[in-house]
Amino acid sequence: MESIQMVDLKSQYKKIKNKIDKSILDVIESSAFIKGPEVKKFQEELQNYLNVNHVIPCGNGTDALQIALMALGLEEGDEVITSNFTFAATVEVIALLKLKPVLVDVDRDTFALNPDEVEKAITSKTKAIIPVHLFGQCANMDSIMEIAQKHNLYVVEDTAQAIGADYTFDDGTVKKAGTIGTIGTTSFFPSKNLGCYGDGGALFTNDADLAKRLQAIVNHGMYKRYYHDEVGVNSRLDSIQAAVLRVKLPHLDEYSSARNKAAVFYNEAFKDVACLETPITAKYSTHVFHQYTLKTKGIDRNELQAFLKEKGIPSMIYYPVPLHKQKAYLQEGVTDEQFPVTMELCETVLSLPMHTELDENQLEYITQAVLEFCKEK
Ligand SMILES: *Cc1c(COP(=O)(O)O)cnc(C)c1O
Repeated sequence: MESIQMVDLKSQYKKIKNKIDKSILDVIESSAFIKGPEVKKFQEELQNYLNVNHVIPCGNGTDALQIALMALGLEEGDEVITSNFTFAATVEVIALLKLKPVLVDVDRDTFALNPDEVEKAITSKTKAIIPVHLFGQCANMDSIMEIAQKHNLYVVEDTAQAIGADYTFDDGTVKKAGTIGTIGTTSFFPSKNLGCYGDGGALFTNDADLAKRLQAIVNHGMYKRYYHDEVGVNSRLDSIQAAVLRVKLPHLDEYSSARNKAAVFYNEAFKDVACLETPITAKYSTHVFHQYTLKTKGIDRNELQAFLKEKGIPSMIYYPVPLHKQKAYLQEGVTDEQFPVTMELCETVLSLPMHTELDENQLEYITQAVLEFCKEK
């Protein structure tokens, strides 16, 4: 059996090595390293895949979030509502822009923003909501969009973990994650579901004016070369990364299926185990399993992790500390009691190896080890 990894990028690469190597070499031969034709082609191909009018590539997923908030013209002190249970990038960019992050609790089943909590957190200063489609499935966008419309708020969807997921609205309309709100953002960090071989990111929107503004902001605020109409940033997807992504994009749906197959294997193995709760797939979203995250019950999650490690099985805790307890983001008057679900999840979740190359032997070995631990308890 191949050694088990949390994410196995090397085995995935080996299957597409010829195409990847050729694409990278072609970029080097062309020497169009920045803003080359590969970037433009990838942009168009991703637009087609997502069925969205505008894709604006940028340097990484964190920049994408920052650029989205810059383009919305928010002002110092404006409030942005987001999830307390996620990676720090979201609050980081809110704070960098001197906006106020307002953290709310998540839904226990989906790990994503709880719309009731969003509604409660709205004040006269609220300008935007950032739902994070965590672990590979969408937040409840019917409710979030309804709240946003009612209160006239922007919605920026953080799709770094859910690219390719389909959201089905109550009326039956289907849209890709990231194409529902005002702006969608994503990351092409290597371990993401559509990962490049370095850093990369993108923004999505159907609004032509907003697309123009985003395009200018990523490029030093230039609408016309060397005319800087506003303060921008320098955030680019380079041609080599675009070339890698062009090879991988046609495989994205097959990668999502491979992840789902592994998830089904795990779900089957753990379905009758009292100390484990398997991930729930919401009726409104497909799941692309960026992570396969268990909730443990009545066992010591850290002990389980140590037990697996001894057997050569990696696992990760996403996320061990809620954002409201991070030193950089402490806020007066914010207490643990306001986030019962987040607090519980931080104590009990464990993510198992999840990637496109897990084989049955590995899955069998992992599930047997988890079951062995649970039986002893
Ligand atoms: C990875 C990630 C980001 C940041 O993406 P980078 O490309 O690493 O900057 C933002 N949000 C979420 C939810 C992520 O998982």
